Amino acid sequence: MNKYKATFIPGDGIGPEVAYAARDCINATGVNIEWEEAVCGEAAIKDFGTSLPEVVLNSIRKNKVALKGPVTTPVGSGFRSVNVGLRQALDLYACLRPAKYYEGAQTRYRDIDLVIVRENSEDLYAGIEFKEGEADTKEIINEINKKSAKKIRDGSAISIKPISKFASRRIARFAFEYALKNNRKKITCVHKANIMKFTDGLFLSSVREIAKDYEGRIEFSDAIVDNLSMQLVKAPHNFDVLVLPNLYGDIISDLCAGLIGGLGVAPGANIGEGLAIFEPVHGSAPKYKGQNKVNPAATILSGVLMLKYLGEDKAALRLEDAVREVIKEGKFVTYDFRKDKAEPCVGTKEMRDAIIKKIR
Ligand code: NAD
Repeated sequence: MNKYKATFIPGDGIGPEVAYAARDCINATGVNIEWEEAVCGEAAIKDFGTSLPEVVLNSIRKNKVALKGPVTTPVGSGFRSVNVGLRQALDLYACLRPAKYYEGAQTRYRDIDLVIVRENSEDLYAGIEFKEGEADTKEIINEINKKSAKKIRDGSAISIKPISKFASRRIARFAFEYALKNNRKKITCVHKANIMKFTDGLFLSSVREIAKDYEGRIEFSDAIVDNLSMQLVKAPHNFDVLVLPNLYGDIISDLCAGLIGGLGVAPGANIGEGLAIFEPVHGSAPKYKGQNKVNPAATILSGVLMLKYLGEDKAALRLEDAVREVIKEGKFVTYDFRKDKAEPCVGTKEMRDAIIKKIR
């Protein structure tokens, strides 16, 4: 039997509750994983003086794979996102987010089976920002105003949106290879190249170029992000794999989570060259912290993706089947599966236990 080592990051808010539940379920498949716990986010600041300590990065570099609970990022000020920091430091350039319908989930739609492939390393998520009123910002505004016919107002803040041919081609290659390996038929490149002609234009032309290598094997189309949002709500079955720059990928991921019943059932993976972190799409939902309330399925299904990544396909299928059965039965499920508030529900731990019991 293969033996693995993996980094385990509990996270903040509801993170530890869902991450430990997922870890228990992965262990219950019998796959032999030695977990190395590493703390980042709010919890790390006290001990390390930083939200993303080097020991966490080194642990993932060494073990090559990690299971992670969500980490809180203060809004508007405070420390920069640990999640973005991890993806950048480890060059986890591909964010893979399947959005799949499980019978019993609370949604208007049936049989949704979409996959989001989000570029994870650049775009407005690069974190290159200039604060309003600072000397550097004024200097940049002056320089841009000299070189551009369009003027930036004094007193503006600035975010930079870098999009490179390299990263766009790289994510396109990832998406097409994923589609081939996973028997997917169609890829849609999502952009706003009608307005952002240079940045999104480059993303689109780079993806188009890569698409040529797959002609006759994978169907290719493109869609403008606002129109795509409308089409996803109206006719989600028309889509298969979506490849998007970072920011649209983030937003459309949540939209797709909405199509399949909410964030409680939306798993994810951040993948680089030989390294990967598995985590749910959702955040740390601080208002539910410590209440044994939230749905662990998104993190458990991220564990399914992790098992597949490790080549443990049978264990992955067994765990996914267990999650599917528990959701379908609807007896041991969390509040977000109820049709109305009067229906009974269970907590995170009880749903975890029910899933473990169903693993065959
Ligand atoms: P959130 O995803 O944490 O929660 C939004 C709402 O979604 C919750 O109030 C809840 O109603 C629902 N929800 C989320 N997870 C659920 C679950 N497992 N089961 C049932 N319902 C669930 O989004 P937010 O409130 O905007 O963000 C909270 C914090 O999380 C912020 O600090 C944000 O930066 C961070 N965040 C972290 C990650 C990550 O670690 N990868 C991702 C997104 C957001």
